[in-house]
Amino acid sequence: MKIIQCNNVCKTYLQGKIEVHALSHINLEINNGELVSLSGVSGSGKTTLLNLIGGLDSITSGEIYFKDYAIHQLNASQLADLRLNQIGFVFQAYNLIPVLSARENVEFIMQLQGVDAATRKQKSMAILEQVGLAAMSERRPSELSGGQQQRVAVARAIVNQPDLVLADEPTANLDRSNSRDLLSLMQKLNQELGTTFIISSHDDLVQEFTTRQVILEDGKIIHD
Ligand code: ADP
Ligand code: MG
Repeated sequence: MKIIQCNNVCKTYLQGKIEVHALSHINLEINNGELVSLSGVSGSGKTTLLNLIGGLDSITSGEIYFKDYAIHQLNASQLADLRLNQIGFVFQAYNLIPVLSARENVEFIMQLQGVDAATRKQKSMAILEQVGLAAMSERRPSELSGGQQQRVAVARAIVNQPDLVLADEPTANLDRSNSRDLLSLMQKLNQELGTTFIISSHDDLVQEFTTRQVILEDGKIIHD
């Protein structure tokens, strides 16, 4: 079953008076359960594509479907709702809330959704167990290594069992060994939970872990 369809997607930014074609005529279909890497040098359009798919930025022309949702036609509050409930995000900078513990960070979205404390704790602890951090659940981000913080960010992204996780350069701040650990964690979650992952990176390492490799160059797909 198809989870994402991009039809002729273009994104143009204005830098002063100059038009920058960040994405040109992207056609991409992704099925449920796929583990996709999105590679390409810096500036090739990876972040732009992930942001468009996740409804974080507006499309210039074309269509993007996520399941039955026409992303290009939704308004801001519909997009916010979709992101809150159906898509998990992992970013390069771990984006954890510094004053909250690992567990509270994982619980944060459930808190926004009004889930009760006992359910939140049970779900977050189960996920922290899955990413190998149950013993560190009460530590704050500053008391965790970079690799551990990014595992918390992955736990936060999947705790609501979204169908799709978008990870934008999740290994960019990690050394080789932590990068491998994080990528194999996402691979494991993809296999065990069936979650669709799109993982971007300017580093080819990511391609060793995915079942499909999409490569961008100058805003175009040059390999799929
Ligand atoms: P990547 O994530 O692969 O490094 P990006 O998607 O960030 O690439 O950028 C693609 C192109 O779009 C680059 O030329 C970049 O300068 C440009 N770009 C990205 N975001 C903006 C923006 N908000 N305003 C203007 N230009 C942008
Ligand atoms: Mg980027």
